[in-house]
Amino acid sequence: MPDDRFHVYDTTLRDGAQQEGLNLTVVDKLAIARHLDGLGVGFIEGGWPGANPKDTEFFRRAQTELDLKHAQLAAFGATRRAGVKAADDPLVAALRESGAPVVTLVAKSHDRHVELALRTTLQENLAMIRDTVSHLRAEGQRVFLDAEHFFDGYASNPAYALEVLRTAAEAGASVIALCDTNGGMLPDELAEVVHAAVQTSARVGIHCHDDTGCAVANTLAAVKAGATHVQGCANGYGERSGNANLFTVVANLQLKRGFDLVPREALADMTRIAHAITEVTNVTPNSHAPYVGVSAFAHKAGLHASAIKVDPNLYQHIDPERVGNDMRMLVSDMAGRASVELKGRELGYELSPEISRELVNRVKDMESKGYTFEAADASFELLLRDTVAGERRRHFEVESWRVIVERTRGGELVSEATVKLHAKGERIVATGEGNGPVNALDRAVRLGLERLYPELAEVELIDFKVRILEGTHGTDAITRVLITSSDATGEWATVGVDENIIEASWQALEQAVTYGLVRAGHAAD
Ligand SMILES: [Zn+2]
Repeated sequence: MPDDRFHVYDTTLRDGAQQEGLNLTVVDKLAIARHLDGLGVGFIEGGWPGANPKDTEFFRRAQTELDLKHAQLAAFGATRRAGVKAADDPLVAALRESGAPVVTLVAKSHDRHVELALRTTLQENLAMIRDTVSHLRAEGQRVFLDAEHFFDGYASNPAYALEVLRTAAEAGASVIALCDTNGGMLPDELAEVVHAAVQTSARVGIHCHDDTGCAVANTLAAVKAGATHVQGCANGYGERSGNANLFTVVANLQLKRGFDLVPREALADMTRIAHAITEVTNVTPNSHAPYVGVSAFAHKAGLHASAIKVDPNLYQHIDPERVGNDMRMLVSDMAGRASVELKGRELGYELSPEISRELVNRVKDMESKGYTFEAADASFELLLRDTVAGERRRHFEVESWRVIVERTRGGELVSEATVKLHAKGERIVATGEGNGPVNALDRAVRLGLERLYPELAEVELIDFKVRILEGTHGTDAITRVLITSSDATGEWATVGVDENIIEASWQALEQAVTYGLVRAGHAAD
């Protein structure tokens, strides 16, 4: 249970997911929630149950699949509709039934938005807030309120904006987060408004967007003015220019202002966590990101180099180790070390020091080639098993595969794959068709092996992510493919890397099938 005096509230899964090009599956969201919990944030806003089926599913699955150590889940939703009782509003019911201990209600605090967007009266808007907050409180949930367009609303009608705060606080909302929804504020003027809001005796939070490049600065200014709840997103994700980067906010407050927000060891893991989340979102990490970017503490050789050797603190604002970064450390090294130490234990393997060392070296070597194990647990476990066994062990051997893509006369693209495999002493030749080459290969492999391993009928390829990685040492760009598969009881992810996208996909696919067989309890040949 986190300290309630100051809240770190993450909204990556709701507001951050609005980022253009970001498309999170439920499995992605669960994975990101685990990472955020690992950082020690207090609250994770999971989405809008009832309004979005994916989010409803997230909350349903979170109850059994998420074992959060620090964070509490918050369900996001709107106040009741005008003219109905909160108790009768189906969207309010979805919040109530989400199982989340906290509900964050978004409400209008800008008079013109109430009249033009909500098309109701200022009085009815206040009644909607009062009724919804008190209803959910009575049902046993904690309620936060996001006061949308608060700063623009305050400029338009300060008395009404403050009335919204008072109404929500009196009805039982424990925090009212002031939202710079359009992201247009600058720190000094924002601080003045926060200061006025704090005078209402409502507990004030802050939610900033980065349209002026000031989201983090605005958040810090709000804290200085009395806000005790900060909202933001992992890696600054969010629509337009993004939301306040929660990692930067947390590091600034904890390391520069002495706040005790997340456990010290978790902060020292922040760089890894920031990168692990980019593996899930499939967004290329910003190497210049404050604190967690690969370049955040990197210095150009030359002028500073010799002085840095004498005293690195002359050229860096903090010791990078405090956020898990390094003056010059490849992300792969870092991820490799952490993966082995953490995941080996997570998977329940007691590794001898020799095996650990060998596994670290293999992981490092593979990560330097572009593999990532942060988001590919199944590939990591296969590698671990092979390392423990001292040899590569598989349930089938691949003689060859081939895939053709044909554009038919009708203009349709169809793919056909043939695989030649050896398993249980048999040679198997199988063909599969699909709407793409990977789909065709997947069908061919499973068709070929299903007779020997009937469990494969349950295995399904559910997600496929491709990332082009820049080549290193003068080589061509390489492609990394992450495949997520599922069976009746869960999901797993595997990774493949090659200059050729189909070869990369094949590697991930072969491991996906192998891991599916391991899960089904089959021993390797
Ligand atoms: Zn927002």
